[in-house]
Amino acid sequence: MGDFTLDLNEDQLQMQQWVHDFAANVIRPVAAEYDEKEETPWDVIQEAANIGLYSWEAVSNWFADPTGLTFALVSEELSWGCAGIALSLMGTTLGVSGIVGNGTPEQIAEWVPQCFGTADDIHLSAFAVSEPDAGSDVSNLRTRAVYDEAKDEWVINGTKTWITNGGIDKVPTVHVVVASVDPELKGRGQASFVVPPGTPGLSMGQKFKKMGIKASHTAEVVLDDVRVPGHCLLGGKEKLDARMARAREGQSSRVQAAMSTFEASRPLVGAQALGIARAAYEYSLEYAKERKAFGRAIIENQGIAFKLADMKMEIDAARLLVHRACWMGRNGKEFRAGEGSMSKLKAGEVAVWVTEQAIQILGGYGYVREYPVEKWHRDSKIYTIFEGTSEIQRLVIARAISGIRIP
Ligand SMILES: Cc1cc2nc3c(=O)[nH]c(=O)nc-3n(C[C@H](O)[C@H](O)[C@H](O)COP(=O)(O)OP(=O)(O)OC[C@H]3O[C@@H](n4cnc5c(N)ncnc54)[C@H](O)[C@@H]3O)c2cc1C
Repeated sequence: MGDFTLDLNEDQLQMQQWVHDFAANVIRPVAAEYDEKEETPWDVIQEAANIGLYSWEAVSNWFADPTGLTFALVSEELSWGCAGIALSLMGTTLGVSGIVGNGTPEQIAEWVPQCFGTADDIHLSAFAVSEPDAGSDVSNLRTRAVYDEAKDEWVINGTKTWITNGGIDKVPTVHVVVASVDPELKGRGQASFVVPPGTPGLSMGQKFKKMGIKASHTAEVVLDDVRVPGHCLLGGKEKLDARMARAREGQSSRVQAAMSTFEASRPLVGAQALGIARAAYEYSLEYAKERKAFGRAIIENQGIAFKLADMKMEIDAARLLVHRACWMGRNGKEFRAGEGSMSKLKAGEVAVWVTEQAIQILGGYGYVREYPVEKWHRDSKIYTIFEGTSEIQRLVIARAISGIRIP
C-alpha cells in the first residue's frame, strides 16, 4: 500500500468545521443584507478578528499545512457563507501575497503583521496592479515610480482601478502598488512598493457598484505624488537594478518564478468559487426533494435528478483540481501544465454553470431575491474574470503544454 490518501487529517477537519460554523452562524445570516447595502461588513470582520479568524497568525497557520490544503478548505467554507463577505475578510491576503512574493525576510516581518493589525486595531491590505488600460495585459502599466536619490524616496503617480479594499481609510490600510520604473522594459521594468497607511497623496477614486460580491469593496486608487521611503521597494533597489540591467542586456529573467507564484495562489481563488457552487448545489438538492409538481417531487424527474448529479460531479472534479494544485504549490512541484490555472479556470466556470442550474431547478423562486440562488449566480461570475480571466488561464495552460508562446 502506498501513502496516497484523499482523507483530510484531524487538524484539517477541525479547522474546516470551525470556519464552517462561522460561515453558517455569522456570515450567512447577514449575506443578503450586505448584498443589498453594498457595504463593507465591518461587524463581521470585527467578529472574525475577535476569534482570531482574521489574523496573521491564522493565515500563517493555514499556509504552514504541509499538504497545502488547509487554506483551500477555509476559503471554500467562508465563500459558502457569502463570497462577498469572504473577500472582505480575505482581500487582505492579496496584499500579503504581494509582500511575501516580492519582499525580503525583513520586509515580510515588518509589513505582513501590519496588514491585519489586531482585534483592537484592525488593519486591511490591498494589492493594486490593474489600471484602466492594463488588466490582463499587466506589462503595460502606466503608473510610474521615480527614484529621488537625494531623499532616498520613491515618488509614485498613476491611477489603479477595480482594487479590492482599495483606498479604504476608515482603518489603516497597507497598499501594495505595482508600478513601472522603466516603461521600456515592460514587465521586467516594474516593481512592487508598500504604501504605508496614511501616506499623503494616496486616495480613493470612485467606488464601483457591482453585479455580485457586493460586500467586497472595489474602488479606484489614485496616486498623486505619493512619496514612500526607499525601503518600501519590495525586494530592495539592488535587486531591482540588477534585474533591469539583465533585461537591458537581453538576458533571461526570473519570469518562471513569478509564474510559479501566480500558479500557487490561483487554486485558493478556485476554492472560493467552489464554496459558492457547493452552496447552490446543496440548496437546490434540498429544494428539489421538497418541491412538488404534477403530484411528485421535482427530483423524481430525471431532467432534474441528472442535473443535480452533474452539478455534484463537476464540483467534485473542480475540487480535485484545486486540491492537487494546492498540494503542488506547497510542495514545490513544477506546474508543467498550468495546473494552478487549470484549477481556477475549472472552479470558476463550474461555479457559474452550477449556480445557473440551481436557478433553473428553483424556477421562478430561483429568479427572485427572496431566495439566495440568484445572488450566488451573480457572485460566481467574477471568478471567470478576476485573478486572470478564463481566457488568460487557457493561455497559460496552452503555453505550458505546448512550449509555444501563443500570443
Ligand atoms: C470585483 C473585482 C475585483 C478586482 N480586484 C482586483 C485587485 O484587488 N487588484 C487588482 O490589481 N485588480 C483587481 N481586479 C481587476 C481584474 O484582475 C481585471 O479586471 C482582470 O484581470 C481583467 O482585466 P480587464 O478587466 O482589463 O480585461 P481585459 O484585459 O481588457 O480583457 C477583456 C476581455 O478580453 C480577453 N482577453 C484579453 N487578452 C486576451 C488574450 N491575449 N487572449 C484571449 N483573450 C484575451 C479577456 O479574457 C476578457 O474576456 C478586480 C476586478 C474586479 C471586477
